[in-house]
Amino acid sequence: TPVIGVLALQGDVREHLIALAAADAVARPVRRPEELAEVDGLIVPGGESTTISKLAVLFGLMEPLRARVRAGLPVYGSCAGMIMLADKILDPRSGQETIGGIDMIVRRNAFGRQNESFEAKVDVTGIEGDAVEGLFIRAPWVESVGAEAEVLAEYGGHIVAVRQGNALATSFHPELTGDHRVHGLFVDMVRATRTAAS
Ligand code: GLN
Repeated sequence: TPVIGVLALQGDVREHLIALAAADAVARPVRRPEELAEVDGLIVPGGESTTISKLAVLFGLMEPLRARVRAGLPVYGSCAGMIMLADKILDPRSGQETIGGIDMIVRRNAFGRQNESFEAKVDVTGIEGDAVEGLFIRAPWVESVGAEAEVLAEYGGHIVAVRQGNALATSFHPELTGDHRVHGLFVDMVRATRTAAS
């Protein structure tokens, strides 16, 4: 069974831990570099990306995170986590850094004031059956992706799910809806990597 960490600095950590357990992974919070070293995959949760960024630097995790992602650690980011996995933020707050891993430019809080939070059906490539109920909360969208990145879903003409190699990102929050298929897809990515490595 793969061991998957959830970066536990800020955000909806608990909900991701529950969703991972439901998707047949062993789930653990990660706050220290030693804990990061022990996981087969990592989720960066939804929350507030500037806060997560600053705490990652403060806790000495930013460089270890970048190094493991560069080395191929499977990672999944939802919402603020998507922002953390972007190589570039269009409108970063001062001092805001990212882990990177996906060649994409994200726009924070992109869906705007009138529409700060909403649900919408989203067809996600790689997920069988019904559309995913996408819960968007002050969500980013992806302005553009590089050649290596695969767009998995769009909503309203904007990119809302992307995969590049072992990195997956969604604008929406599957950890909050009880539909664990996106976590299942990520657990499969982690399993595939472990098989390849052993
Ligand atoms: N707006 C938040 C940010 O910029 C993300 C919101 C979320 O994760 N629900 O970090």
